[in-house]
Amino acid sequence: MIIVKLGGSVITDKKVYKKLRKGVLRRIIYELSGENLILVHGAGSFGHILSKDKNLNSGLNDYNAIDFSTVARDVQELNTIIVSMLIERKIPAISMPIHSFHMFGENFPYLKFYEYLIRGFVPVTYGDVVLERRKGMAICSGDQIIFNLAKYLKPERVIFVTDVDGIYDKNPKIHKDAVLMKVLHAKENVSFDKDVKDVTGGMELKFKIMGMLALSGIDVIVVNGLVKGRVKLALENRDVIGTRVVV
Ligand code: ADP
Repeated sequence: MIIVKLGGSVITDKKVYKKLRKGVLRRIIYELSGENLILVHGAGSFGHILSKDKNLNSGLNDYNAIDFSTVARDVQELNTIIVSMLIERKIPAISMPIHSFHMFGENFPYLKFYEYLIRGFVPVTYGDVVLERRKGMAICSGDQIIFNLAKYLKPERVIFVTDVDGIYDKNPKIHKDAVLMKVLHAKENVSFDKDVKDVTGGMELKFKIMGMLALSGIDVIVVNGLVKGRVKLALENRDVIGTRVVV
């Protein structure tokens, strides 16, 4: 089984509320094959902008249930677009919105994913708002979902699709001299710039999750979804420009 993560930065324009990169998304979907696959996508501008504006990370209070609902609705809209594109391709995609069955910090209901997988479906889930016992709610990123799924379902490979060539020594969008790291060791001590704008923990948390996946024996690769063919090459486990996280 392979898990593909479509980063919010590649499938949406993260600066503009609910702006889809429709052409890019459609092309990436055409690079996928529908066998033994779980698709996880980020929320991008369908989730991050409003979550930050409404300060949802601080928790649920007497006034913001409507904001929680709105973000849940918006990211589900993005999910429906993706599921529809997969169905158009005759891939039996099935939407798995975690706000409807997962409580943050508690056991992840991976069995539902398994039951769909063994019947030939492609479960499609995404970074979402979820209930949590202490603060009332939390934002669960696509990467955190992948960590939970991988723990139980043991995929052979996780492919992170993003909008840059892989992981760099510093954010390539800010630093022109950033260097692409083709191989990164899971335990390597890389210090990433703090991204204050990111409501889900930025590159530092991403790399931590990738490292834990690699340490549990999973192939981890990061590729650029803006470049045609890279997702396909990664799926076929062929040589491709990107970053491999290894032990
Ligand atoms: P999300 O779903 O959270 O948007 P992405 O995987 O698409 O997830 O996010 C990747 C983004 O992280 C890229 O757009 C890139 O600008 C940013 N980034 C920050 N620091 C780095 C780094 N050191 N190497 C690669 N990308 C980085």
